[in-house]
Amino acid sequence: MIGTQKLKRRIEKSNQKRRLRKARGTVTKQRTEEKPRYYGPMSAKPPTTMDAIQVKQGSDPGKKPPLTLLLAAPRGFCAGVERAIRIVELAIEKYGTPIYVRHEIVHNRSVVEGLEKLGAIFIEELDEAPEGARVIFSAHGVPKSVPQDAKRRQLFYLDATCPLVSKVHVEAERHHSAGRTIILVGHAGHPEVIGTMGQLPDGAVMLVESVADAERLKPPENAALAYITQTTLSVDDTADIVAVLKRRFSSIAGPHKDDICYATTNRQEAIKAIAPHADLVFVIGSANSSNSQRLVEVARKAGASNARLIENADAIDWTAVARARIVGLSAGASAPEVLVDEVIDAFRKRFDLTVEEAIVTREDVEFKLPRALVTG
Ligand code: SF4
Repeated sequence: MIGTQKLKRRIEKSNQKRRLRKARGTVTKQRTEEKPRYYGPMSAKPPTTMDAIQVKQGSDPGKKPPLTLLLAAPRGFCAGVERAIRIVELAIEKYGTPIYVRHEIVHNRSVVEGLEKLGAIFIEELDEAPEGARVIFSAHGVPKSVPQDAKRRQLFYLDATCPLVSKVHVEAERHHSAGRTIILVGHAGHPEVIGTMGQLPDGAVMLVESVADAERLKPPENAALAYITQTTLSVDDTADIVAVLKRRFSSIAGPHKDDICYATTNRQEAIKAIAPHADLVFVIGSANSSNSQRLVEVARKAGASNARLIENADAIDWTAVARARIVGLSAGASAPEVLVDEVIDAFRKRFDLTVEEAIVTREDVEFKLPRALVTG
């Protein structure tokens, strides 16, 4: 257990760092309170009410029932999402409104509504943008045909594709140039999958969604093969699928493990650490957010059979919470911290609340903004 002085120094250091990042314009959210923190490898020492740091907040004994809220960390915004939102904000600042955004910039309703209020107009296809419009492509990436269309129509565009998605696009192109047939592990219809498949000609990429798909896959005879993956998949499910591909096609090329990004991996590790200790787990995120949906699945597999996705505090089923003593809370990579704060406040109104935060790792990833937005 960490001593109080040491804890205070760590919180202060962390807040100083945050203030510095905010001053540089890389942080758009502000923590509304200091939260207790638990440092250390959760795999070696998972948090319990005994050894995690506990701070009583808003104690109101005798009136409200006690409840512990166990926060998973990391949670919420990743570097790719912060960058994509910042691109829209800066584009509005620099060019004025309207700014058209092709597809939800990130899969979160409150983020989209916030940007709409600033003057962003969300469209699904480029032809919804008028001649001469300024358009931004979402963090999920787009097929090659989209920027080609934009050029043909002489639209000004900015690409908010996460650099970790772009990295997978580059891998796909490299394998294709080497004459390999590509197997993409991902979810049909997800914008990232559509964007990745759209980097190459029709038929160059075969999609595999499950172990069963991998078992029955029939690639062209004697084809050299390579695999790539969507960035927001379940780490464990993807490992099972990749194991089947490697067993069936021993010379298949691929990344060291998979292309699942650091943010997806860390949020899944964090929710795994808290799930066995919680009677109920909430994941804040929108229904169309792949990484949020995966967090719910991972929590269930890790022992929280009662894990649910909620859009925000209004979606909490308080009848279910009434039976719980420890509730786990996380947020998908596209969910802002303000929604976490609102959930904590909603709990504090109803319970004598203890908040614990379980940190499995620290993140310090930042991505560069497009040059057009940072130069005069
Ligand atoms: S979840 Fe990962 S791939 Fe997606 S935007 Fe965030 S960092 Fe990029």
